[in-house]
Amino acid sequence: MQKKYAYILSIAIIISAFAALRSRAVTQIPEPKEEPKIIDPGDPTHAPSDAIVLFNGKDLSNWTSVKDNGPAMWDIKDGAMVVKAGTGAIRSKREFNDIQLHIEWATPAEVKGEGQGRGNSGVFLQELYEVQVLDSFNNKTYFYGQAGSIYKQYSPLVNASRKPGEWQTYDIIYHAPTFEDDGKVKNKAIMTILHNGILIQDHSVLFGGTTNEPVQPVYRKHDKGPIMLQDHGNPVRFRNIWVRELTAKPLP
Ligand code: MG
Repeated sequence: MQKKYAYILSIAIIISAFAALRSRAVTQIPEPKEEPKIIDPGDPTHAPSDAIVLFNGKDLSNWTSVKDNGPAMWDIKDGAMVVKAGTGAIRSKREFNDIQLHIEWATPAEVKGEGQGRGNSGVFLQELYEVQVLDSFNNKTYFYGQAGSIYKQYSPLVNASRKPGEWQTYDIIYHAPTFEDDGKVKNKAIMTILHNGILIQDHSVLFGGTTNEPVQPVYRKHDKGPIMLQDHGNPVRFRNIWVRELTAKPLP
């Protein structure tokens, strides 16, 4: 009788060993055939080797004025562009869909105004979707309007603001919305944002174009679009602006 059990047991072990081998053999994940492109990742002083540099610290040749499509009229000082109040927003000459955007900004060291009036600017993806730039260091305002908010849609997960006058970074991973032929939105815009290296927007799905009006944001069909920087009347500085165009789609 004991022999019979030992026999059954050994058969069972062999079957389960085969089953284990088989389950290892039937993975559904295809092995990628293409080696990821090798790039120089850059550092705080220079962009990655596969990036499109939108501002080199010297001139505004990659930007135009939104007001009249003429030359961008903001100032250049110490390697940074500075909002010149009254000249209006500026937009990049190049237009994009899905991108990784790196941009550095600093609100004025001399603190003036409060709430939305202190160090206000904005980074607009495709000219329509604003990531708020604001001095949010000891400066209360409505939460979905503080630095790192997607304006009036999402507050940042945390307030990672540095002091006024200090350089800060945004790293934005942006997936543009897509549209049906009849104009209906097919895939909504999605943003993930790091502020000074800290996650502040985690795959936030936008409700539509950002707006200051007390209305429900809506999507309006559009194609590629530029990056727009806002003139909100405060001399906010920007530098080290680069973009990497993305081709991979996010999971649904
Ligand atoms: Mg703004």
